[in-house]
Amino acid sequence: MSALSVAIVGCGPAGIASAVECRASGIKKVAIFEKRSNFCATLRRLYPPHKRVDRDYKGFKMDSEGICTFETETKEEFLKRMLNYINEYSLEIHYNTEITGLEKTGKHYILKAGINHVAETYTVIIATGVFDRPKKPSYPIPNEVKNRIFFELPQKLPEGEKILIVGGGNTAAELACLLAERCNVFLSYRREKFFRINEQNLKELEKRKKQIKLFLGTEIKAIEPSREGVKVLFQNGNTESFSKIFYCLGGSTPKNLLKKMGIIFEDSNPVVDEYGETNLERVFLAGDIAVKRGSIMSAFNSAHRVVKRIIEKYPGVFQE
Ligand SMILES: Cc1cc2nc3c(=O)[nH]c(=O)nc-3n(C[C@H](O)[C@H](O)[C@H](O)COP(=O)(O)OP(=O)(O)OC[C@H]3O[C@@H](n4cnc5c(N)ncnc54)[C@H](O)[C@@H]3O)c2cc1C
Repeated sequence: MSALSVAIVGCGPAGIASAVECRASGIKKVAIFEKRSNFCATLRRLYPPHKRVDRDYKGFKMDSEGICTFETETKEEFLKRMLNYINEYSLEIHYNTEITGLEKTGKHYILKAGINHVAETYTVIIATGVFDRPKKPSYPIPNEVKNRIFFELPQKLPEGEKILIVGGGNTAAELACLLAERCNVFLSYRREKFFRINEQNLKELEKRKKQIKLFLGTEIKAIEPSREGVKVLFQNGNTESFSKIFYCLGGSTPKNLLKKMGIIFEDSNPVVDEYGETNLERVFLAGDIAVKRGSIMSAFNSAHRVVKRIIEKYPGVFQE
């Protein structure tokens, strides 16, 4: 492969929007490298079927700044929209390619997958998101119950079981509503009330208040095996056993990967300037990995800003 002008790591909303913005601006040699076998892998893996994909996620209203945009629609409609962008802009995507390193060579970078050199490129946009590394609880998970603990949706949803969902965001609320149709659902959140859940999801929870038992203001101290499955020990001294526990605690930045690439961190966040450029010249972050509170619209917008900046600051990108 000849040297690329822009290499994009990750084929989620931020990666696709970055490639669309590049192509629309006339940058020709652009390719996306995706570790999984399909685009928008996070959505495919973690969103339940027919999930409503909210444009104003977590209650934040955001105007669209770039080419990619959407209105609230289902997961399936959103994936179709992204496929249309891929086709319309003839995006080059290399699937099953997990980028594990970055090396500087002269004015270019080499993207590495293990020991293999995958591509040489002038500019890099890292858009790996945060959901490949789900946040885990601080207490240990005993080996005996590991098969009852979930950080993402299993292929087959539980049926007729007693389920605990831990978390206080939209993901926890949506999962509780989904499972309430088929299971005995409990939702545990450490705060006294929800403040990160959007209006629509609060309404959905309210509608199912007879089916979903809320444990608000509850901190979990430990979990241990029990006859029914997993026994949960709460800080207030209460205990309760469940068949399965689903943790919806969000994701975390792929620190090891970024540090290995040479990107500097401050207080566990990668240091970027206002345009998403890291301490490595021409290496940018876009999407969830670049912001505190991620959403699809913010991923689209950050991609637009990054590409605009690349064109302004590094016009050589067109000659590459
Ligand atoms: C359950 C759930 C519900 C949500 N609901 C909404 C909603 O309704 N509305 C909304 O706006 N937002 C929602 N979000 C948040 C939204 O999904 C994210 O903000 C969005 O996906 C961020 O896009 P991204 O491209 O930055 O990252 P991602 O979508 O996570 O994409 C990153 C991509 O990079 C790939 N990748 C990771 N590491 C590598 C590597 N080393 N090499 C190559 N590829 C790699 C991944 O496989 C993935 O395809 C939800 C999130 C979850 C978990």
